[in-house]
Amino acid sequence: MKTLDIIVPFYNEEACLDHLIERFLTLRNSLASRLDVKLILVDDGSTDSSVEIVRNYTGKCDFIKLISFTRNFGQDIAVSAGLDYSKGDFTAIIDSDLQDPPELIAEMYDKLLEGYDIVYAKRIERKSETIFKKLTAYGFYRIINLLSEIKLPPDTGNFRIMTSKVRSTVVAMKEHQRFLRGLIAWAGFKSAPFLYNRDERDSGETKYSASKMFKLALTGIFSLSYKLIDLIWILAVFLIILSIFAALFNKIIAIILFCSALQISATGIVGMYISGISQDTKARPLYIIDTIIN
Ligand code: UDP
Ligand code: MG
Repeated sequence: MKTLDIIVPFYNEEACLDHLIERFLTLRNSLASRLDVKLILVDDGSTDSSVEIVRNYTGKCDFIKLISFTRNFGQDIAVSAGLDYSKGDFTAIIDSDLQDPPELIAEMYDKLLEGYDIVYAKRIERKSETIFKKLTAYGFYRIINLLSEIKLPPDTGNFRIMTSKVRSTVVAMKEHQRFLRGLIAWAGFKSAPFLYNRDERDSGETKYSASKMFKLALTGIFSLSYKLIDLIWILAVFLIILSIFAALFNKIIAIILFCSALQISATGIVGMYISGISQDTKARPLYIIDTIIN
């Protein structure tokens, strides 16, 4: 029988995990005649009772694996660890807070069998998400697609199912500045969207503060695009033209301030790329595991 691994990263989700695992068990039973389904739960350094909750299940169910990090490394690194340990014919990725209904994985699997390597869930509706979140998400996809030759499907998170071919391709990419959706899009396999309504969070709070979201957006942009380097040259030309005009009006101080602001942002842009290189040359492991069960 074919095998499917479902990877779930979690970080301080003690209020959601029982519900998630119950719904997973129902899904596993409903697919039992066609697929052997395993759950890979990756603890991204939780400090609440999340790990204890998962441990209770791993004793009874050998098809539930727990990978526990020594500290918080970030959602995409947690998913990457899950991918490293996934051995199934197919691998799905889903959040732990039940915003993505696990039952849909069965339908996404059927769609995959129509001849795709990736079926990614695309959000039609985002229930109860703040205007701020909706606007920033909207802006992020448009900006990244403007800056990058690799096009990301808009309104798409990590929720998806893929063949082992895609999984092993992504596993082979060891870069640290890691934006998983971008790496998968870059790999370029045959993919199809699966439209769904995103539910409300089961319980608890989002684990993404505004600053964490901003950092993720920057990681996405800098891992996919080098166009910002071009932008520096465009700015330089713009500055030269501006200085010609300034000579006419004598607004020297404003121009000096403006120039230094541009210089600083240019340095910042270059710094981001260099920091990416420096992280990769350090060759540290992506994550450190404290415990593995099953
Ligand atoms: N998550 C994680 N590490 C983090 C932040 C989040 O593993 O540092 C997990 C989180 O527990 C959830 C998923 O990633 O399973 C998505 O996070 P969240 O629901 O907070 O994001 P949102 O849906 O609000 O964008
Ligand atoms: Mg969520």
